[in-house]
Formats: sequence, C-alpha cells, structure tokens
Amino acid sequence: MDIAVVGAGAAGIAASISAARAGAKTLLIDKNPAVGGTGGCSGLTTICGLYDDAGRFLNPGFAREFAEQLKDGSPLRMGRVWVLQYRPEKFREVAAHYISNSPQLESLWNTGVENAVMENGRIVQLNGIAVGAVVDCSGTAEVARAVGVECLATDETTQASAIVFPLGNVTRELGTTADVAQVLLPVARAGFPPLNLQPSLEPNTLTAKFAGTTELVWPLIEFLRGNVAGFENCSTPVTEFVPARRAGRMIVGQYVLTGDDVLVGRSFPDAVARCAWPIEQWGRDGIARFKYLPPGVHYEIPARSLRAANIENLFMGGKTISANVDAIASARVMGCCLATGAAAGNLAAACIQSGRTR
Ligand SMILES: Cc1cc2nc3c(=O)[nH]c(=O)nc-3n(C[C@H](O)[C@H](O)[C@H](O)COP(=O)(O)OP(=O)(O)OC[C@H]3O[C@@H](n4cnc5c(N)ncnc54)[C@H](O)[C@@H]3O)c2cc1C
Repeated sequence: MDIAVVGAGAAGIAASISAARAGAKTLLIDKNPAVGGTGGCSGLTTICGLYDDAGRFLNPGFAREFAEQLKDGSPLRMGRVWVLQYRPEKFREVAAHYISNSPQLESLWNTGVENAVMENGRIVQLNGIAVGAVVDCSGTAEVARAVGVECLATDETTQASAIVFPLGNVTRELGTTADVAQVLLPVARAGFPPLNLQPSLEPNTLTAKFAGTTELVWPLIEFLRGNVAGFENCSTPVTEFVPARRAGRMIVGQYVLTGDDVLVGRSFPDAVARCAWPIEQWGRDGIARFKYLPPGVHYEIPARSLRAANIENLFMGGKTISANVDAIASARVMGCCLATGAAAGNLAAACIQSGRTR
C-alpha cells in the first residue's frame, strides 16, 4: 500500500480522497464501523472554518468541493463568523459516495491502530501492512502513540466535551443572540450546566450542545418543557447520549503553529491551507471563550505543520496537526480539518511519487 490514512472523519476523508486522486494506492482505516468521525456521527450540524469574514471560501480544492456537495442552503452568518449548515446523514452519504467511487482507495472499518513498525526513521508497516507513508487523522494521534513520538495535547480545561443532540418540536424563533439568551437564562438560573443552542436545517429543530452529564439531559428537557415558552413539546429522538470529545493530541511537526500565528494572520512560504476561525477555548465550566482575528484577516498553515518532526513519512491532518493548544483551538474546526486533511493527502502522495519522503 502506498499510503495508509488513519481516521475517517473530516480530515481523513479529505486526506484519503486527495491521496487516491493523486494516484497513490491508499488505505483508509477507522476503528468505527463506517465513515464520518465527529462531523458525521456526533450530531453536529454546522461546519465552521470554511469561510473568510465576508462569507467567501478560504480554501479551494477538496474542502470547497465537499462543502458544496453538502450544501442545502447558503452560508449562515453567526455573529462575526460564517458557517455552513449541513445534515449529518448527508455528510456520511457524500463521504461514502466519494470513497466507493475512488478506484485507488480501499477502506478497512472496525480496525484500530494495533502496531506500527519503524525502520531507519520511517514507518514501514501499519497493522502488518507494508506502507510507503502514513497520514494520522485520528484526532488523538494514534499513529504517533504507536511509534512513540512527541505530541502536544489539549484537555478538558481548554477543550471540554459536550453532549450534542437535536432538540425538535421547538416552536419559538431564535433569530438573534438576545432571543437565545432569553432561553438560556432560566436554564442557567435553574442551576443546569451551560447549554448552547444552534440552528439546524430541520424544521422546528435546534442543535443542542450541553456541557452537563448524560444523566442531566432528560431533566434539562423536562425543565425546558415546563418553563420556557415555545419549548412545551420539545423532544429528541436520541436515546443514548454520548459526550463528544473536543480535546485531542497534536503531533509535533517541523513547525508548531502558535496562537500568535493565528491572531496576527501569519503567512508562510510553504502555506497549504488557510483559516480565519477565532481561537475558541471551552473551559471545564462549559463556557466558550473566543479570541478573534482582526477583520479581513486569515492565517496560513505551512506544510511543515503537517509533517512529523522526526518520522520521515508521517503526515498529519485535522486535529492532529502540529499546533499548540491555542492554535488548535482555531484549526480544529471542520472546514480547516478538511483543508489540512486534503493537503496532508497531497503531500504524502507527492512524496511517494517522487520516491522520497521530504
Ligand atoms: C462538542 C463538539 C462541538 C463541536 N462543534 C463544532 C462545530 O459546530 N463546527 C465545527 O466545524 N467543528 C465543531 N467541532 C470540532 C470538530 O467537529 C472536530 O474538531 C473535527 O470534526 C475533527 O475532525 P478530524 O477529522 O480531525 O477528527 P475526527 O472527526 O474526530 O475523526 C477521527 C477519526 O479517527 C478514528 N480513530 C480514532 N482513534 C482511532 C484508532 N486508534 N484507530 C483507527 N481509527 C481511529 C475515529 O473513529 C474517527 O472516525 C466540535 C467538536 C465537539 C467535540
């Protein structure tokens, strides 16, 4: 196999399709039974990080192409940023369609990273399969864990988990921040952990991101039914609530992108992706803290942040790119994961094809 991509979320989808399109025989591996990762399987319904602050695509290529396949509407302005609303089932369908129509791409589901063999500073085998290069899109740097390379990590103090679920039968309009605040205030006063409500493409439905425990979800819904106008009949089809993990591990690469790079909108001669999303930290208290880039500014991500520092043929996409805790708080959003995934797939393919890994 030329390239193994580990992880079939936004980054791994982009990496594997891009590598296969570039002509590399590619294997996509995921411990889950099917494609999707966080973007397709956690209940999220907005892709952040695709646009600049005028609502224009920041990255051409696969990130834009994938987003256009998902699109059921126009970009939506949320405060100072733009997002793309999508349906998670469409995310999975579009990704599965790409995979099954890529002749150079094979996939292996229900398969975790079990072992990796190194020779002369290169990974030569993954799970017993001979590989020319590896792209780690696992979100938690599982390939790096298997070969023992240096990583940085976010944790629950800066990237706290949340339970994401659709909340249907809501008859109240929440068009403005003030409208949302009127709902969230009684929830907070009643002592519930922070709740975040986002629009959804489904009629009368919101996407809830709840910082509480799974046991508190039904009491929260009961509270909304009894105390908030327009929520009297609210409900969710979800029966098993699972906290989605924002925290992850980043592999130390040839360059570690910093929060300062993000906030000043740094450019790089070897740039392969762009992003304008703010630094978005989620504290253990479940509250988001945003640091925005200046108006009209975006930052670049260099190829060096997608190449491992000490392993010649290891590349990274999505949440595992070489970035510090502040920079990844911006670059972890899905639009940027699609862009860095695609770039990592192209870098890995180019290196394989030129017969070298640098
Ligand atoms: C609560 C929450 C809310 C969020 N809200 C938004 C939002 O509104 N908009 C937005 O754009 N982003 C949002 N994000 C961030 C975004 O969803 C993720 O950062 C992004 O999807 C990460 O993509 P990825 O491809 O890097 O990793 P993931 O999507 O996490 O994919 C990693 C894949 O690797 C696989 N994997 C893991 N370990 C192994 C292993 N050992 N072996 C094989 N496979 C493995 C997993 O099964 C998974 O499929 C949110 C995240 C969370 C948790």
